[in-house]
Amino acid sequence: MITRTPIAVHCEEVVSDVAVADTPEGDWQRQLREVIRDPVTLCRRLALNPEWIAGARRGHALFSVRVPEAYLSRIRRGDPGDPLLRQVLPLDAESDVVAGFIDDPLEERNHTPKPGLIHKYSGRALLIASPTCAINCRYCFRRHFPYADNAPSMREWDKTLDYLRNDNSIQEAILSGGDPLASPDRRLAALVRQLEAIPHLKRLRVHTRLPVVIPDRVDDALLEWLGGTRLQKVMVLHINHAQEIDDAVVAACERLKAAGVTLLNQSVLLRGVNDDVEALAALSERLFEAGVLPYYLHVLDPVSGAAHFDVSDAEARQLIEALRQRLAGFLMPRLVREVPGERSKTPL
Ligand code: SF4
Repeated sequence: MITRTPIAVHCEEVVSDVAVADTPEGDWQRQLREVIRDPVTLCRRLALNPEWIAGARRGHALFSVRVPEAYLSRIRRGDPGDPLLRQVLPLDAESDVVAGFIDDPLEERNHTPKPGLIHKYSGRALLIASPTCAINCRYCFRRHFPYADNAPSMREWDKTLDYLRNDNSIQEAILSGGDPLASPDRRLAALVRQLEAIPHLKRLRVHTRLPVVIPDRVDDALLEWLGGTRLQKVMVLHINHAQEIDDAVVAACERLKAAGVTLLNQSVLLRGVNDDVEALAALSERLFEAGVLPYYLHVLDPVSGAAHFDVSDAEARQLIEALRQRLAGFLMPRLVREVPGERSKTPL
């Protein structure tokens, strides 16, 4: 392994994005503005040994720190092994160059027919509804995604949506990002109005981590446009560890379900976070308590900067088999990998 050259950092533009705020501003927007963006503050607030600071600074230079207070409050102080901390703390290891780990592991740049639109699988298309996130997860496969080239203005969205209007085979629109719910409700409501006017669209799927990392995001304004659409609504949350699901997250899930949203979860199998059967079983149990069905357990996408999270296929298969011995079938996530060029996820 050798040291990587630092590359551009995305997600620093979140403030300007959020600045186009609804009136009045929701409390979640204040929380989003006030996320921790400084690795030194992160280490100090969590009472980490100062020896972590230098590596955190170097990792931050590659992919910036973003941690909301609501998420920070679930991290144990003084514990560098905390499974939530490991997801957000930059490390020196992120600058290692590891064979097979690249900037665009899913070759998404080859499937972007219009700015802000990714079309890989039949029947559904993905819209980059926000270039920013509330939290920066160190293992994110889009940590190098060219968001600047895929952030259409409202006027440009109309042209991008022509792609959906002209393809009758697309029945499902997926809002992704970044995190789509980092966008103001007014903007999302306008986008969804355009989507529901496309007769062949049946479903709206939202891929988001915001109800987990800032549960106050699930407020009346969000429920109004989401609950009011004629489209069937599916929300795929992203939770990797049971410790992420506190009472506020459970309450947010209850509000979403009451608005007619089907809740699923996808996780990533991460070394040092959830790579043991106890953690995975506890996650499935806690998800179900919150009214969320475990959907996918992804093996890590080989994105540069995240190789230290990797779990081998053999180990992943052993874990899923051990989990099968423990859990009822409806609590079992499907172990999958996303392979560039394949028409669906590939089961392991
Ligand atoms: S995993 Fe999701 S929430 Fe985390 S940085 Fe990536 S897109 Fe954002």
